[in-house]
Amino acid sequence: MQGITILGATGSIGASTLDVLARHPERYRVYALSAHSRVDELAAACRQFRPVRAVVGSADAAARLSQLIADLPTSVEYGEHALCDIASHADTDTVMAAIVGAAGLAPTLAAARAGKKILLANKEALVMSGQLFMDAVREHKATLLPIDSEHNAIFQSLPSDYARQPGASGVAKILLTASGGPFLNRAVETLDAVTPDEACKHPNWVMGRKISVDSATMMNKGLEVIEAHWLFGAPADQIEVVIHPQSVIHSMVSYVDGSVLAQLGNPDMRTPIAHALAYPERIDSGVAQLDLTQMAALQFYQPDFNRFPCLALAFDALRAGGTAPALLNAANEVAVQAFLERQIGFRDIDRVIRHALDAIPHGPAPSIEAVLEQDARARAAANDAIAQVTSRLRGNPTDPSP
Ligand code: NAD
Ligand code: MG
Repeated sequence: MQGITILGATGSIGASTLDVLARHPERYRVYALSAHSRVDELAAACRQFRPVRAVVGSADAAARLSQLIADLPTSVEYGEHALCDIASHADTDTVMAAIVGAAGLAPTLAAARAGKKILLANKEALVMSGQLFMDAVREHKATLLPIDSEHNAIFQSLPSDYARQPGASGVAKILLTASGGPFLNRAVETLDAVTPDEACKHPNWVMGRKISVDSATMMNKGLEVIEAHWLFGAPADQIEVVIHPQSVIHSMVSYVDGSVLAQLGNPDMRTPIAHALAYPERIDSGVAQLDLTQMAALQFYQPDFNRFPCLALAFDALRAGGTAPALLNAANEVAVQAFLERQIGFRDIDRVIRHALDAIPHGPAPSIEAVLEQDARARAAANDAIAQVTSRLRGNPTDPSP
């Protein structure tokens, strides 16, 4: 029986993970579940899966959860220390890292330092701490399996003994597919007016709101380029983004002999989740088999960096190295939140990020503390830029736009 901790159990990935686990009660027991504020949903999951521990974001949320599950043996805790503890405890073998954003870094790193099997959905943690995170995985003999559908596809398309050296395995390129999101063909000049709900209406995937906006700006693909760099040891020039609107091919690896290996499937995150949970075995995920005969044409295009400036910003940050990806990630989180709260327009997202990157010089990333310090500075710079935008939107023409 594998003991499982799910960080972010009430999210889109968390729910898909619970769905797969429920199909295999003989293989998995749930050790701990976490949620930030959606207490009712966490209570329902506790009732179904009977974890030993449940962790929420605040004392208030913990009090409400305790009331709701007073009849269960589950102990209720809150805060980052508790999150790190359920991610590193001896009674958990596998940690699903599915918290959204930088908040997932500390517990995911704690899992790495405890040598756990980490199923990594929380790409922001790896983008922020790249080298430091990979060093912790190696030093503590943790196992890192990608949940992001693209990276899971690449992992499946690489040789099983792949050791993060593309040249040694004859890998010419990693081809990262991207749907292009909801605004692939929308007139660029109309993008300023799109609403959060329009941005979150992804053509192929149902996901949390932050990653949905990231998909609409293609910052998600930019973060994934950086994620692929760390997971697979490929430099920026060996990672190519290919727009593939149908999201059937989840990514590919191109080899020096001209072969291209791909992983295909219906767009449902339960496939990569089941793959990583059971790896190297295969288990039922609940996802329907792909019917190729029912498929219309599969299309592929080059990305338009003018339409999607966030993708270019991410490639630049990867090439700059050091704390540049952490700055990019922090500014993006703040800008996306402001867009979701309707403080700024959709096209202001890349302007705010650019402003923050211009304001805060990147440097080396010798420690997690240094990364977090840069993260905080980028958030402050992004908030300054947002204040300028909101004052401009309120009709104060003397304020410069970022
Ligand atoms: P979501 O918004 O649906 O869920 C986020 C989860 O994180 C929730 O359980 C929430 O309670 C928790 N959370 C939020 N803020 C927190 C905080 N400050 N502290 C602790 N917990 C907090 O997000 P999602 O779509 O499930 O995505 C989760 C992660 O997986 C993201 O990093 C995303 O990029 C990645 N991912 C998601 C998908 C997908 O299909 N949804 C695909 C690939 C990768
Ligand atoms: Mg993805």
